[in-house]
Amino acid sequence: MNKTMMNILACPIDKNHPLELYEIIEKDNVIFEGALFCPKCSRFYPIIEEIPIMLPDELRNKKQEMEFLICNKKNLPEKIITMARPWHL
Ligand SMILES: [Zn+2]
Repeated sequence: MNKTMMNILACPIDKNHPLELYEIIEKDNVIFEGALFCPKCSRFYPIIEEIPIMLPDELRNKKQEMEFLICNKKNLPEKIITMARPWHL
């Protein structure tokens, strides 16, 4: 996703805006890997292969997201890795 998307993205659960952006792989203002974090409800949303995955809890892929957290343990802040909703390490 392009970083300018941050101007319009809101949390799908509580509509909170703005969200926090944590970049893992970025080039020319495009985020290839990263995470979005909603400070209101503490949910995180992974950005995988450029796509922000912003789904309600019941449609989220726990297995894929746990693997994402394990892979990025050192790249994302503690509040996501060990405390974020709907799951964390
Ligand atoms: Zn939220």
